[in-house]
Amino acid sequence: MKRLKVIAFAAATLLCCISLSAKPKVRIVATGGTIAGVSSSSSSSAYTAGQVGIQTLIDAVPQILDLADVSGEQLVNIGSQDMNDEVWLKLAKRVNQLLEEEDYDAVVITHGTDTMEETAYFLNLTVKSDKPVIMAGSMRPSTAISADGPANLYNAVAAAVSPACEGMGVLCCMNNQLLDAKTVIKTHTIDCDTFEGGPSGIIGYVYNGEAHMLQRPMNKHTTESVFDVSGLDKLPQVGIVYGYANASALPMKAFVDAKFDGIVLAGVGDGNFYKDVFEVAVEAQQKGIQIVRSSRCPTGPTCLNSEVDDAKYHFVASLDLNPQKARVLLMLALTRTHDWEKIQEYFMEY
Ligand code: ASP
Repeated sequence: MKRLKVIAFAAATLLCCISLSAKPKVRIVATGGTIAGVSSSSSSSAYTAGQVGIQTLIDAVPQILDLADVSGEQLVNIGSQDMNDEVWLKLAKRVNQLLEEEDYDAVVITHGTDTMEETAYFLNLTVKSDKPVIMAGSMRPSTAISADGPANLYNAVAAAVSPACEGMGVLCCMNNQLLDAKTVIKTHTIDCDTFEGGPSGIIGYVYNGEAHMLQRPMNKHTTESVFDVSGLDKLPQVGIVYGYANASALPMKAFVDAKFDGIVLAGVGDGNFYKDVFEVAVEAQQKGIQIVRSSRCPTGPTCLNSEVDDAKYHFVASLDLNPQKARVLLMLALTRTHDWEKIQEYFMEY
């Protein structure tokens, strides 16, 4: 009996030691971008995005293996200017599978910076997990002097293993900062310090391999989101029309003729239209093509029923979403409803 007790105690101690030493399992899903970009010189500007594979990225930062049990897979290898609905659906499904079925503790996604904010927001609304999902990219290619990719990848893995990043929705990790998927915007064409969190600022930062959170996301995301893409193989078609003085109505007409499901206006000021464009928008809405008003202004909301009477025309105001993110939410909203009032509610909630 005594011997049995000793064996049981030894086994329990061993199990305890194993679980204490077990590192979190992090999967890196690579999609390309400048972080995987290569130049024939040490130049930061003349290069091709999406060239090197995931294992090369992991091998370049061996320190991430101290933080986690890291493995990787290549979903696609593209510049994020070529990101599309098909890849978004594939990515959302794969992230859900890794976190729900394959028991990973967190996912890091490497991605180009051009459309990172759109992918982050799409995943924020379609990933069904509280586990950390962190996106990382770089502004300089992997071959550049002082490439920023390795540090961003290291910080992203550090954030992925941090309990502080659980339940925060999808986060972008760039330049030591953590940014919320809803508010993050790319603001500079070439600087490493290009991502900003809008008026609410950054949501946290990573320093010395540790994530520190400063605030929580204000809107619904991930596990609270009603949007489910698990059964979808395509998304509604939504285009963006840019506003300017003396604007031509042709782009708006082209979307209407092509029977798009929705159109977002990157309007002037508080989401205003040039008069010719306005006429086409009213007709489009009457034909069942949902119009969402947003703004080309970099800051400030597009307010409901302000200069434009949304209630009269059944337009939706994008509120705090810029045109490219309003497009993402409109696409997902149209998978559930064509009722403009319900769609406006989604814009208030998400
Ligand atoms: N064009 C690149 C991309 O978005 C830029 C970058 O990653 O910084 O993939």
